[in-house]
Amino acid sequence: MTPTRVLVLNSGSSSVKYQLIDMADRSRLAVGLAERIGEETSALHHEPLAGGGKRERHGRLADHDAALEAIAEELAADGMGLDSPELAVIGHRVVHGGLKLTVPTLVDDAVLKEIERLIPVAPLHNPANVTGIRTAQRLRPDLPQVAVFDTAFHSAMPEHAARYAIDVETADAHRVRRYGFHGTSHAYVSRKAAELLGKDASEVNLIVLHLGNGASASAVRGGRCEDTSMGLTPLEGLVMGTRSGDIDPAVVFHLGRVAGMSMDEVDELLNKRSGLLGLCGDNDMRQIRRRMAEGDAAARLAFDIYIHRLKKYIGAYYAVLGTVDAVVFTAGVGENSAPVREAAVAGLKELGLAVDGELNAAGGKEARLISPSYARVKVAVVPTDEELEIAEQSYALVASR
Ligand code: ADP
Repeated sequence: MTPTRVLVLNSGSSSVKYQLIDMADRSRLAVGLAERIGEETSALHHEPLAGGGKRERHGRLADHDAALEAIAEELAADGMGLDSPELAVIGHRVVHGGLKLTVPTLVDDAVLKEIERLIPVAPLHNPANVTGIRTAQRLRPDLPQVAVFDTAFHSAMPEHAARYAIDVETADAHRVRRYGFHGTSHAYVSRKAAELLGKDASEVNLIVLHLGNGASASAVRGGRCEDTSMGLTPLEGLVMGTRSGDIDPAVVFHLGRVAGMSMDEVDELLNKRSGLLGLCGDNDMRQIRRRMAEGDAAARLAFDIYIHRLKKYIGAYYAVLGTVDAVVFTAGVGENSAPVREAAVAGLKELGLAVDGELNAAGGKEARLISPSYARVKVAVVPTDEELEIAEQSYALVASR
């Protein structure tokens, strides 16, 4: 029997998300989340999708090792444990692959070292990713482990988009350049959008807007990334749930000199207390819309700033690409918020962009067009599926060996 199952692990600083996917029919066998790892209130939410219903565990999971062991126990209770001969590979989401790790990669000691070497440019993410890989290796030393990098899709960016205009020697010495993130989603969504347009990915130019709690835009020419809004870290670009996105770097010096804030305090401000949350106290678009309906001025302004930035990126990437086949919305906000989609393309008829009110409001879980038939540039909603993409890439790599 050829093993066809892939366990996808997405290890964050205090959480591990996982999915067990059978590549024979791309069905999901189990999904789950271990959260608040390291705290007394840790929880594990496990759902076997073949039946049996959701299960919960509460109580401290001391570290990622404990979390992964608990996940393995839950899977084993459903007869799908890590020792199952049907498991082909464990696919890990790794946030930063830098300049060297630009394709899905079979993990060995050298690869792990390189992921560790990148910790200074991804201090929040890469350490957890390394822990996840090491723990999985300990639990199943014989099983291939594949790392799929969030930065990989963007590694095709031309140098003129990837470099900041700062002293080259300083930049190179400290690996300061634009790497981009959410690449697995941008890659998956670009491919699906091309399918929706009935074309090959190599034939279409797309502006992809991944609007979740984190948010990023990318300009994709013929299936390759030409520019993306996140940079050295996931802080640059669009207004996000709690991150500022683009800001004059001098704000950092100003807050240091005038407000006496430390580097760490400014870091925390821009990453955790900014964006929609900083502007109006809420980072969930649903709540912001509810408050707007009640006439809340702060929520309205936060929404307007969010849309203004989004529009600037649509315009910028239109100019970068020259011609655009479709603007594609994805992730939590992009897939679900009709008002955001409508506002983002409002007034862009001269660019060939419009949404059809009814199609936009219709909702649905499938990839779909929401532009009127006359629109020169299509507008699409394409649900992202980073776990499936990681599973596809990991499985393809082990299947080709
Ligand atoms: P991430 O993976 O970055 O945590 P998601 O892509 O799951 O985020 O997006 C989460 C966000 O999506 C929520 O914070 C919320 O703002 C938004 N969201 C989810 N559902 C809806 C909805 N029905 N309408 C508007 N926004 C939504």
